[in-house]
Amino acid sequence: MQYNAELIAVGTELLLGNIANTDAQMLSEELSTLGINVYYHTVVGDNPQRLREALEIARKRANIIITTGGLGPTYDDLTKQTICETFGLPLEFHEDIWEDICAYFMKRMKREDIPEGNKQQAMLPVGCTVLDNPVGTAPGCAFEKDGVHVLMLPGPPYECRYLFEHRARAYLEKLTHDRIFSHELRIFGMGESHVEEKLHDIMVRSTNPTLAPYAKTGEVMLRATAKAHTKEEAEAMLAPLIAEVKETLGDVVYGEDVESLEEVVLPLLKERGLTLSFAESCTGGLLAKRLTDLPGASAVFRGGVVSYTNAVKANILGVPEDLLDRYGAVSENVAIAMAEGCRNICGSDLALSVTGVAGPDRDDRGHEVGTVYMALAAADGTICRLVDIKKGRSRGHIRHLAGHHAFDLIRRKLLGLPL
Ligand code: ATP
Ligand code: MG
Repeated sequence: MQYNAELIAVGTELLLGNIANTDAQMLSEELSTLGINVYYHTVVGDNPQRLREALEIARKRANIIITTGGLGPTYDDLTKQTICETFGLPLEFHEDIWEDICAYFMKRMKREDIPEGNKQQAMLPVGCTVLDNPVGTAPGCAFEKDGVHVLMLPGPPYECRYLFEHRARAYLEKLTHDRIFSHELRIFGMGESHVEEKLHDIMVRSTNPTLAPYAKTGEVMLRATAKAHTKEEAEAMLAPLIAEVKETLGDVVYGEDVESLEEVVLPLLKERGLTLSFAESCTGGLLAKRLTDLPGASAVFRGGVVSYTNAVKANILGVPEDLLDRYGAVSENVAIAMAEGCRNICGSDLALSVTGVAGPDRDDRGHEVGTVYMALAAADGTICRLVDIKKGRSRGHIRHLAGHHAFDLIRRKLLGLPL
């Protein structure tokens, strides 16, 4: 049996743009791990007539409907009543749920005068599976009618997630036995269209597992996904596909199930017992920030200098003034001197420098926006690379990409790959 779900978010505030529909995002992600296709996201205001219409459409095209929101005690919380009317199910009072609600009020709100409106929350569809809610007052519920499973979850994101994880997931797992497992490959240094071209044949012939590319800022992510009964089965299906992709693309594949280049660089440094420092001009501390965002960075990161002016490049990093005069701050010679100076003063095994034009204007020597030099100083010498981050990119983008290039340069150096 193939299950197709439609998510219906109820709430006028979503339509007004006051809040984003993060419940739908979370639920879609979770449903994919259960192998349930999500074909539609619907958003409808707190209006019974339009909710009813949305439900009538959904029950024709989905066999799982999950609603979020509108389960509370206030006058605009009409989801349950409307669903019951649409599916022809009466509501019944659940004494045990009412006791839970009373207990929650007394414990959390320190109140004994429970508003009468809350009684309505203990009214649930006849014969439903109750998804009791220990993290809020509104319980969720689930029922099946005419081959359609309807699950109602509360709107507040924390409650919605909690009830999904601890209640709804088990309900859905009983319906479907296939589950989805995936691995992500990260690629830097090859554009999305080039990646697709190289992998075209593999992608076309792969149906289970599948292979799909996603463009990220300055890099590409590939997701390999298998549908199987068990994790072991899925892993056995995924392993040859992943090996083939790595073989086809080569060393531009920088990691598997990682979020960023720095996440790969950090353990490489650790394994080798090496330390690192940064001399940053146009990235203004971004490299240090990205590395120190990772727990455990202190084991490898010595520190850095944000040498935004020539004076700091000269006085702190010790870049010779005549180099700055002769070649300008954005030059190979200065990048090298910055990296070597940084390595000296920080006492690190490796030091990386970045100097470039982030824009929006060219520098005083007429270098185009996106011209970035980076140098990497190590015990066995210093290398320098000119990275040309294409024109027309924003300042933020150029700085972000300069960061990618910098971490990739370090990765390549540590792995002995071509620089
Ligand atoms: P309550 O008992 O809090 O009234 P409820 O189930 O009735 O819960 P709503 O009244 O619809 O839910 O929404 C409560 C709050 O939850 C909203 O103000 C909003 O902040 C958040 N919320 C509702 N729906 C969503 C959604 N789809 N995505 C993200 N947040 C949501
Ligand atoms: Mg509400």
